[in-house]
Amino acid sequence: MTDTSEHPKETHAFQAEVSRLLHLMVHSVYSNRDIFLRELVSNAADACEKLRYLALETPALLGEDGDLAITLAVDGEAHTLTIADNGIGMSRDELVENLGTIAKSGTRAFLEAAGEAGGKSSNLIGQFGVGFYSAFMVASRVVVTSRRAGSDQAWTWISNGVDGYEVQPADEADAPARGTVIRLELNEESRDYGERTTVERIVETYSAHVPVPVRFVEADGATASLSDGSALWAKPKSEITAEAYKEFYGNVSGQWDEPALTLHYRAEGRHEYSVLMFVPSMKPFDLFDPARKGHVKLYVRRVFIADDVELLPHWLRFARGVVDSEDLPLNLSREMLQHNPVLEAIRKNVTTRLLSELAKTAANEAETFGKIWEAFGAVLKEGLYEDAERRDELFKIARFKTTTSGEASRTLADYVGALKENQTKIYYILADDPARAEASPHLEGFRARGVEVLLLTDPVDAFWVRTALGFDGKPFQSVTQGAADLDAIAGAEDEAKPETDAGELASLIETLKTALGERISEVRASARLASSPACLVAPEFGPDKQFEKIMARHQGGQPFAKPVLEINPGHALIKAIAAKIGTDAALVEDAAHLILGQARIADGEAPEDPADWGRRLDRVLEKALGA
Ligand code: ADP
Repeated sequence: MTDTSEHPKETHAFQAEVSRLLHLMVHSVYSNRDIFLRELVSNAADACEKLRYLALETPALLGEDGDLAITLAVDGEAHTLTIADNGIGMSRDELVENLGTIAKSGTRAFLEAAGEAGGKSSNLIGQFGVGFYSAFMVASRVVVTSRRAGSDQAWTWISNGVDGYEVQPADEADAPARGTVIRLELNEESRDYGERTTVERIVETYSAHVPVPVRFVEADGATASLSDGSALWAKPKSEITAEAYKEFYGNVSGQWDEPALTLHYRAEGRHEYSVLMFVPSMKPFDLFDPARKGHVKLYVRRVFIADDVELLPHWLRFARGVVDSEDLPLNLSREMLQHNPVLEAIRKNVTTRLLSELAKTAANEAETFGKIWEAFGAVLKEGLYEDAERRDELFKIARFKTTTSGEASRTLADYVGALKENQTKIYYILADDPARAEASPHLEGFRARGVEVLLLTDPVDAFWVRTALGFDGKPFQSVTQGAADLDAIAGAEDEAKPETDAGELASLIETLKTALGERISEVRASARLASSPACLVAPEFGPDKQFEKIMARHQGGQPFAKPVLEINPGHALIKAIAAKIGTDAALVEDAAHLILGQARIADGEAPEDPADWGRRLDRVLEKALGA
């Protein structure tokens, strides 16, 4: 036995974030306090599963006691509730590290979200797995006694959830042979958690399907089973209720929203495995965190192996669940997990099934699919450029806002079905948000001809449109890039459009080019404009302007392709400028710079030289107003 005199009682303060979290927990009067038990049971189950996994390599850790279980006990007189497990346990350092600080990004996200939600934060607790600290919603003092598997020293951690905590060597008489005992000294408002019926009800509601048995210890020491710990995914579908699926989803994901989609099947044949997978209905807060790994748990014959194996492609990272293989060896090394042909085959199959399930939902349950797309469309679209093999399947389910969709959204098949006569391309505009996209002058000529344009406003859009060859044989074409080949498509106003004198137009274009010099690569007459005098477009073979903007934001530096200035020959202002050539060269030069600056403003940018632009504007206004 270790000499405990070397380790006297130590007092620690909580990390600042822990204090904040605790304060929030304790003061969220309306929250559903029941959830503390589900969090502690889930931690206990994880501890048992971790030990079972480590014991594959080191059976001595398990020793004689291979019956891993969670036991709950109450004392109605002392008003305590005890949650015990004979899992992996915690060393002194682990107690300090795990129960005094917050390592999890999800908890940080919770704190941020709770800060934003103000008084409504109580509802949020249920949506996140906020873990151990929720014990302080019901307890005025929490005593954790733990012995790490294989260690001869046990430790006690004690806190009132306010001042910090104490750690000291445990009294051997109270210490478990292995694992963790958490004793909650219930506060006055929470005394019913010291009653067996309450405990049974909560386990039934939230923890009936954790994959470790849960037992109740009666006053005489006999135990009663509350849940048998059998794997839900191994049961036939017909025996599983919607509530059971939902509860399992909550436990496996730490999210307690309603799953939008549940996929449960058993694969037989070359590889045998079970899959129970969910698509959440709510966006997790760390969806775009680059460090974020998938959340699918890998089991081998009911033994938990790892939760950080990439069992799904990156663009399905919002799915949650379990894959349980019948034919992988139990003693898989990290190395083997990474390049394993069986896992590769499983990954492929699960991806196919999930995609086809999403397609089915898209076809039959528009409202549910709408929610899924709203939450995860931007992630699914990453697959359009990361996974060329899946592109066609993803195109089938992708939804888009367009210039004609209004509040609804459209599929590419809808788009292609509504092509105008002679329209050979799928047009899109990239922008930061739908309002800016819709206000763009580049859309005018398309609107005038009734040509639908996809409004692409997710950052990922700028990437996949560049690599995708097209849909249904129609290439994707940015409306802000290259010449708008709209002439073949008849528009309502075509006949009415006044013919412009070709000679006059050519000399205007020359004059503008000379005036604007290096700022542009070309000036030309536009087919895409109706009511605006001018706009800027990207050259045919360079990157789209919005794409350049995104790249510049990430990597710094200037866009490298000079834009093309397109003018609207039918516009009164353009005609008036043309008429001044030869009579007022200074005014024409000012006008050239003004329309270039205006076109940049329409794209959400400032004129290149704002001071110079302002001086020109003053001069032209003074002239116009006779100042
Ligand atoms: P989470 O479980 O989501 O990581 P918690 O705050 O609930 O967050 O727990 C923090 C950590 O404390 C856990 O990750 C785990 O390492 C450890 N822990 C909690 N309860 C137990 C337990 N019963 N046995 C072993 N370790 C535990």
